[in-house]
Amino acid sequence: MRIALGGILHETNTFRNEDAQLSDFDIVRGESLIAAHQGVRSYIGGMLNAAATMGATVLPAMFASAEAGGTISERAYSGMVDNLLDEIRTALPIDAVGLALHGAGIARGVGNIEVDICRKVRQLVGPTTKIVVTLDLHGNLDRQISEYVDAIFGTNYHPHTDMFERGQDAINILPGLFDGTVVPRIHIEKLPFLMVTSTTMHGPAAEVEKLCRQIEDDPDIIACTFFHGFVWTDTPDTGPSVLAVSNRNIEKAAEAARRVARFVWDNRDKFRPNALAPKEAIASALDAGDWPVAVLDGGDDPGGGCPGDGTYLLRAMLEANLVDACFAAMFDPSVVAQAHEAGVGATIEIELGGKIDPRHGAPVASSAYIKALTDGNFLCQSPMGRGSQVSVGRTVRLQIGAIDIVVVSERHQPIDPEIFLLHGIDVSRYRIVALKCTNHWRAGFAGIVKRDFLADSPGIMSRDLKTHLYRQILRPVWPLDPQATY
Ligand SMILES: [Zn+2]
Repeated sequence: MRIALGGILHETNTFRNEDAQLSDFDIVRGESLIAAHQGVRSYIGGMLNAAATMGATVLPAMFASAEAGGTISERAYSGMVDNLLDEIRTALPIDAVGLALHGAGIARGVGNIEVDICRKVRQLVGPTTKIVVTLDLHGNLDRQISEYVDAIFGTNYHPHTDMFERGQDAINILPGLFDGTVVPRIHIEKLPFLMVTSTTMHGPAAEVEKLCRQIEDDPDIIACTFFHGFVWTDTPDTGPSVLAVSNRNIEKAAEAARRVARFVWDNRDKFRPNALAPKEAIASALDAGDWPVAVLDGGDDPGGGCPGDGTYLLRAMLEANLVDACFAAMFDPSVVAQAHEAGVGATIEIELGGKIDPRHGAPVASSAYIKALTDGNFLCQSPMGRGSQVSVGRTVRLQIGAIDIVVVSERHQPIDPEIFLLHGIDVSRYRIVALKCTNHWRAGFAGIVKRDFLADSPGIMSRDLKTHLYRQILRPVWPLDPQATY
């Protein structure tokens, strides 16, 4: 069997005021695609593993991924999708294509990129070649995607610790598709609900996850997946959906998806986030009694497309004169450059952060001591993505008062303690660990952080959904329109 692998993976926050450009993407092709994912707990890593196990020949096409960001520019998108198609064309003849996509990618002039990619790949490979796809739990699914693909597998967990397994699933279904024992029927059920994404490690999303696994115990159900959706993007598809794939029986798929959707809808009130103002989050953290605790910069999570240089939480930490506190990661290449010029041991005057979007706070003017400088390269150790090479550009560990702050040259969502360790910071010795990350840190910091407090602030990822200018979403939608029904 000959299988081409590739994809374009982007989570788009349409409230961002600048477009994502080609330079924001890491693009790998051919042997470099294999080298970047072999043995890595990623979708493509899982696809490679399953293909090797079944003795299939892998034809690496092109895989492009970026930190979540603004709408993808027309030029960047057309360049990437044309390149993906060219690489697949070069691989022909093939039996199957495995695509690692997100589900909440938006490009100018295109809209939902996943439907566009799948439609174009189908046109290229024809009706008999199988197309199998992985999607992220935060995908805002467009039902049209099922017209172009044979099977879809989405991550079940948040943090997404099962990307590898879903990549394996996508390849492992292929022999059954070819011998006719498996005929997937896909049903996508959408909910009129703007659901702020929640962890599946506890709380209401954990209950939904458990229900999906129970439904998958039925041998006729190939997959039952609850997609939380991504509310910080304004499209007609925005919102949660339940995807069910059955073998041959579309009624059974529809019934399964509706059962989960009904459970989500009936429990929608439990998904309201427990968000605090930065000052309150810090006060609660100081009262925790059992440390370290995490304070999450929910208003400026680069993993949700935010600038990563927002200052609301940092300013509140400085005003609280915290000791035993550390913070990762402020994105500010100019401050990093200034620090590398001054050198370790110097004290410099800085204007930190607040440079990209005034909605995320003004720069913090301060003196700062340079404790350490690095090249910003390390390996991810989180169960989510373990083994992948992370590069955040040159970095500096600054000390302002008694607070240790890691500043990076490329936007970074700290999903494990590695960014701290790189700078000699052992987070277990601190009381407050502030993170520009809302949920994905939970796997990497498990066993270290005792509790967490969500700090919300104004900006493009505020939990106060009334503050966002939605124009495209379908109305009525709960909770903006309390009369919405399902
Ligand atoms: Zn996600």
